[in-house]
This record gives sequence, structure tokens and C-alpha cells, in this order.
Amino acid sequence: MLTALRSISATRTKIKNIIIIMKSFAALALGLQAVAAKVSYDGYKVFHIETSDFEAMQAKLSDIEYVSLDCESNHKSLEVAVAPQDLEAFEALGLDVEVSIEDMGAEIAKEGDIKPYKARKKARDVCTGLPDMSWFDSYHVFEDHLDFLEDLQSAFVRNSELFDAGLSLEGRPLRGIHLWGRDGPGIKPAIIWHATVHAREWITTPTVEYMAYQIIRDYRIKEPLITETLDNYDFYIMPVINPDGFVHTHENDRLWRKNRQARESSSCIGTDINRNWPHQWDVPGGSSTNPCVETYRGESPGDTPEMAVMTNHTLSLAESTGIKFYVDWHSYSQLILLPYGYSCDAMVKDFDTQMELARGVRDAIRSVNGLDFVYGPTCETIYQTSGGSMDYVYDVANAELSWAFELRPQSPRQGGFAIPPENIIPSGEEVWAGMRNLFANF
Ligand SMILES: [Zn+2]
Repeated sequence: MLTALRSISATRTKIKNIIIIMKSFAALALGLQAVAAKVSYDGYKVFHIETSDFEAMQAKLSDIEYVSLDCESNHKSLEVAVAPQDLEAFEALGLDVEVSIEDMGAEIAKEGDIKPYKARKKARDVCTGLPDMSWFDSYHVFEDHLDFLEDLQSAFVRNSELFDAGLSLEGRPLRGIHLWGRDGPGIKPAIIWHATVHAREWITTPTVEYMAYQIIRDYRIKEPLITETLDNYDFYIMPVINPDGFVHTHENDRLWRKNRQARESSSCIGTDINRNWPHQWDVPGGSSTNPCVETYRGESPGDTPEMAVMTNHTLSLAESTGIKFYVDWHSYSQLILLPYGYSCDAMVKDFDTQMELARGVRDAIRSVNGLDFVYGPTCETIYQTSGGSMDYVYDVANAELSWAFELRPQSPRQGGFAIPPENIIPSGEEVWAGMRNLFANF
């Protein structure tokens, strides 16, 4: 009897397994059709590896399935999320490692649900007409960011407009909000902010939206510093300049960095837009020529559709009003980065002044939530980067200041690219304090 039961049970198990296998094939077929199965990072373990020979270490890892989680690699260490099925093989390499994150999937889960945007029309602040602050309680999909920008603009109609600098490869708008003061649009020098060029750096989008919100709110209540700033400069704030990559992080792969461009030479997708700016593009060591690497620079300078849009927009402002201040907002690691990226020997002409301004911004940021941001020229502070935005906007578009920020958190141990939405408002508050300090001093 027992044997019979076991046998029936074994047969049931076999049937179940066959059904599971059939379902898997069906799912695989569907997946291939839609090319869109969402990547799960459940069980991926993140390791920090120190190394004196970066290239050799990369070679050692060549048979391991992992995702690189460096924001801007310093080439002295690697941050790798290793797939669960390769953990044993990885550990067998016997490397000297530290565990940064036990389970990347669990960190991503802490980002919470992507809430729909409900603040439209109904839930406006009755005094200001601005969207409800609950927008900043969660992360949002791309379309909702477009709606939010529209609602911001409609609360400030006489002093703002939305603009599409152009379209991404997949036809999404690189949209921004243009804000101006007393004398009307397009007269005063430009302040340009770009966010989320690296698609997985989610905290950067709501952080710049938070600051756009503050500018509008403060100008409307005639707060002196912001009134003076907006009367003297036009802001062009673009919360998502890599929309295809951003949508991909929501729908397919939370840790995607590049754009979504295919190349004939490779089956790997994506170019790092922030290695594709057509200036000092092919300086050795500052980017990768391999399409499968996260810092792939493209086949030729500026050969991404998003770059054509951004260089056009940036140069037209450079020619018309000039550019006072540019920021490319990134995450993570809490840095304030000045030119140059392409060389550790090249130095900006007003180095001491810029460092003094950056120190002020650092202190102002620290005064809000106590977080430490490190500041300095990119090449010395992190590592050489070529084809980057700040060098182009500084040298080619002649911006007076052209910086990049790496926002919170400081380390991958704190989640890296994936941090809970409770960080959004504090991140906005601290860098807004930094920006106010800069506006008061430049
Ligand atoms: Zn970045």
C-alpha cells in the first residue's frame, strides 16, 4: 500500500514536473516573442572586490554571470552582483571579497510599489496650485513623470514652458521644463540640469523634480534668494534624458544603465550616453570600446540619438544666452565632481574659485541631514572618464561651471542604485540646500 502510494505520489510529481517544464517552455516562447521577461535579482549577492590589477580581475570573472554595480569605477575595486547559480563558482575563485548586499532582490523590493500619479488636478495644494507633495513618496513610471512636469508647469504658466529637446531612439521625448523670471524667456544665461542619463540611477529624477518644485514655490512667494536667481538665470531642467533606458529599468531590468541602441558589431545592446559626448571621446582608459561593457562609448563620437538631441539643445543655449551652470545628476556615492574627467593633468582656469564654491555646497549639504559629499576634479576624485558631459559642456559649450553630482547613498551597502523612496525628499532637501548656497555665491 505504502509503495503504491509512493508510486502514485511519484507519478504525480513527474506529471507536475512535466507540466512545469511545459509551462516553462510556453513562458520562454512568450518571453522570446515579447523580448520582455523581467529580470529577477532575487538571490543575487553583491560583493566588493579590491584589486591592484583591474583588467586581470575582470578576466578572472569572465565565466561568472554578474552585473557590475559600480557608479563610476575607480578601477581599484569592483562591485559585482553575482547570479545565484554562479555563487559557488564565484566563491571557488577564492578572491578576497566583502559582501555588500546579501540579496539584491530584497534591496530592490525595498523601493516599494511604483504608485500611480494621483495628484493631478484634484489633489493640488490649494494655496499654490502645485502638485501634491505625495508625488515624492514613491518612485514613478516615465509617463507619470511627463504628467507631473505638465502639472508643475501649469502652476507657473507665466514663467515657464515645457520643451522637448528631441526624441530618443525609441521615440520618447527628452522633455524638460524651462523656468524664467521677471524679464521673460530666453534672455538670461542658462542653468541646465540633466538627470537619469544612467537609467538605473532612479533617485536623480525625483531629486531634480523636487528642486524644480522648490524654485517655482519660492519664486511665487517672492523668497529673496530664488527670486533673484530666477530673475538672473533661466533654468532648463530635464529629469529623464535617457527615457528608453529608464523605461527599460521599470519594465525589464532594474539595473540597466545605458541607452537601448543595437550595434551591428555585437549582440549586446546599449551605449553609455555619458561616454558618447563628442569631445575627448577616444582618450584611452576613460571608456570602453566593447559594446557589452557598461561604459561602452559607441562607434564614433556623438553617435547616439539622445546625444544629437542634447548637443543641439546645449549648443543652441550656449550660442544664444550662454551657460552659467550645468549639472549632470547621477547616483550613487555622494560626490561633487568638477572638470576634468578626461585628464588628471588638465585643470580648469578658475580652479581655486570652483573648489571654494564646491566646498560651500558640500557644507550646505552636510548641514541638512549630516551626509558627507566629497568634492574635487573628476579624474582625481574617481577615475579618468572620457566623452563625458561635464568636459563637453565646459570646453565646447563654454559653461562657466559644469559639474556632476553623485547623490546618496554613499556605498553599495546602503543599497547603491536601489534605495527606499523615503530617501527622495531628504535627497531633494540636502542638494537643494547645496544649490541655494551656490546661487548665493556665484
Ligand atoms: Zn551615472
